[in-house]
Order: sequence, then C-alpha cells, then structure tokens
Amino acid sequence: METVLSFLEPYQATEQAEWIVSPQMAQYTSFRIGGRADLLVYPKSAEALCSIVDFLAEHKIKHVVLGRMTNLLFTDEDYHGVVICTSKIKGISLDGLRATAECGVTLAELCRFLRDSSLTGHEFAYGIPGSIGGAVYMNAGAGEKSMSDLVTSVTYYDTVKRETYTVLGKDCSFAYRSSMFAQDPSKIVLRAEFLLAPGDRDVIAADMTARMEKRAASQPLEFPSAGSVFKRHSACIVSKLIDETGLKGLSVGDAEVSRKHAGFIINKGHATAKDVQALIAEVKAIIRQRHAIELEEEILFIE
Ligand SMILES: Cc1cc2nc3c(=O)[nH]c(=O)nc-3n(C[C@H](O)[C@H](O)[C@H](O)COP(=O)(O)OP(=O)(O)OC[C@H]3O[C@@H](n4cnc5c(N)ncnc54)[C@H](O)[C@@H]3O)c2cc1C
Repeated sequence: METVLSFLEPYQATEQAEWIVSPQMAQYTSFRIGGRADLLVYPKSAEALCSIVDFLAEHKIKHVVLGRMTNLLFTDEDYHGVVICTSKIKGISLDGLRATAECGVTLAELCRFLRDSSLTGHEFAYGIPGSIGGAVYMNAGAGEKSMSDLVTSVTYYDTVKRETYTVLGKDCSFAYRSSMFAQDPSKIVLRAEFLLAPGDRDVIAADMTARMEKRAASQPLEFPSAGSVFKRHSACIVSKLIDETGLKGLSVGDAEVSRKHAGFIINKGHATAKDVQALIAEVKAIIRQRHAIELEEEILFIE
C-alpha cells in the first residue's frame, strides 16, 4: 500500500482525496458487516476518482468503486485491495427542468433539492438510501418506477479506454435492477442528468413524507440491512411467499429473516457475512423444495 499512499499524498495536499488505512468495513456498510480492507479512499472529485482508478489498474491493485454501500454484503475476510467510496463527490445543478447530480450525491439529497426547486417526478426515489452512482448501476426503484424513468443521460468513465463518455438514458440498457454499468463494471458512473416536471412544493413534500412513513411502517429500518435480499419473481411476490412459507424469524447467528418484512434479512447485532450467506442459502433451498421457485439475490457480494 506504500505506493498507493505515495500516489495519493498530492491529492490529500490539494484536498482532492482523503483515506482511512485498514478500515473495518462493518463501520461503513448499511448491513454493519465486513472485515478489514487495506485502504478506503474518498476522492472528492470525478477527476480524482478517474486518476485513482487508473493508477490502481496500472499497478494491478485490486479495487472496487462503491457508493453508500447499501446494497451489498461485504466479506468477513480481509479485503486485500482498495475500496473507493464516492460519497464525497457531491454537486447538484439545475438548468430549467433538467437536474444533474454527481455520483456521490444521495437520492435523498437529490429529492430534497428537487422538492425545494418545486420539481416533481423523483418522489419514488425518496427513501432508497443509495447514491446516484449505485442507483444508476442498480436501476434502483420503488413501486412501478425506477431510475430509468428519470435519467436522461449518464456520464461515465470507461476505465479500459480511459475516456469519459455521455450516453442517453434510453441507451443505458436499463432493466429490472440492472443497467449497462452492472453488466460492465469497467464503466464508472460519474454523473447523471434527470428530467423533471414543474410541481407544487407542498404537494411534493407531502408525497415524500408519506412514502417515508410507509417505508418506516413496513420495513425494519431500525436494524441494519441491505434492503430487499431477493429480486422480484414473475411467479410470485417474493416477500409474501417467504412469509407464507413460515420463514419470518428464521435465523443463522445474528442474521434473521425480518419479522416485519420477509424480503429483508436484518443484522440483529453481530451477524457475519457467512451468517447472511448461510441464511440466504437456507431460504432459497426451502423455497425451491416447497414451491419449485428459484430466488435470485438482488444484493451484491464484495469479496
Ligand atoms: C433499508 C433499505 C431500503 C432499500 N430500498 C430500496 C428500494 O426501495 N429500491 C431499490 O432499488 N433499492 C433499495 N435498497 C438498496 C440500495 O439502497 C439501492 O440498490 C441503491 O441504489 C444502492 O446504492 P449505493 O450507493 O448504496 O450502492 P452500493 O451498495 O455502494 O453499490 C452497489 C453497486 O453499485 C456499484 N456502484 C456504486 N457506485 C458506482 C459508480 N459511481 N459507478 C459504477 N458503479 C457503482 C458498486 O460497485 C456495486 O456493485 C434499499 C437498501 C436499504 C438498506
């Protein structure tokens, strides 16, 4: 890591990056699970992000670019590499009905900014606890709406060609919880542009509050988790099926199928990634055996 730290020093001196050596990743993931990484780096601009990724690739140092870490299960083992977190790459701008947000802006920050600008169309995203980068990558959504309904273009860095490109939303291969970025992780989302409609601030605010209240009433937000563990299935409502199969409360160690929302696995205190993985495998096996349905994970594994 000495070479990486020497490379990073000028970025720190010019306030373009900061880092933590040997972080316990459980402190940073929404699941509160994860072992130590060699280094956790926070670039403070898209330019710094691209240069750091270039340097790590050139030196064949293992790395991963993450946002708010709300959709993943981080390994319990030591991660011998660099975790790059975008959460300090901030910036939102507005041009008429078009807003642009950098990858580290949270959906909550974007929604509040658009509410205060009396712009509507984003409310569905309020309460999804991710960043713009992670939400575009996952095509995050709620109800019948997802990022693909909002995004008009994405600017990304192609780490293979070392070039920045802008692609129209309709060309991002958005699908259910997927995008061209999920299909090809060598492309890093730098910023996205969104098209809104004029609205009434009070109506927008009331809608956002109602959505948050609905989440708090139906989801186990009082416990660490990574949201819904499984993707939607064409044959069933997954959380209902898990509930009807009697799996609420099923646990391995401190990992438990939430009693409040069967689609969530919660960390009741000291759950490990291994506990969560074992519980996922058990739920999948029971559902396969009883209903001949194969569940697929929505959450991602970082190893
Ligand atoms: C309580 C709770 C509720 C949730 N509710 C919902 C919901 O209603 N709907 C929903 O869709 N999701 C939901 N989620 C899951 C999660 O919040 C979303 O998937 C979110 O979009 C993930 O964003 P993130 O920044 O946390 O991404 P991370 O978890 O940090 O990363 C996810 C993936 O995106 C990649 N990535 C992140 N940033 C970039 C970037 N800039 N460029 C390229 N790749 C990048 C990472 O490499 C990783 O593979 C919920 C999670 C929790 C904990």
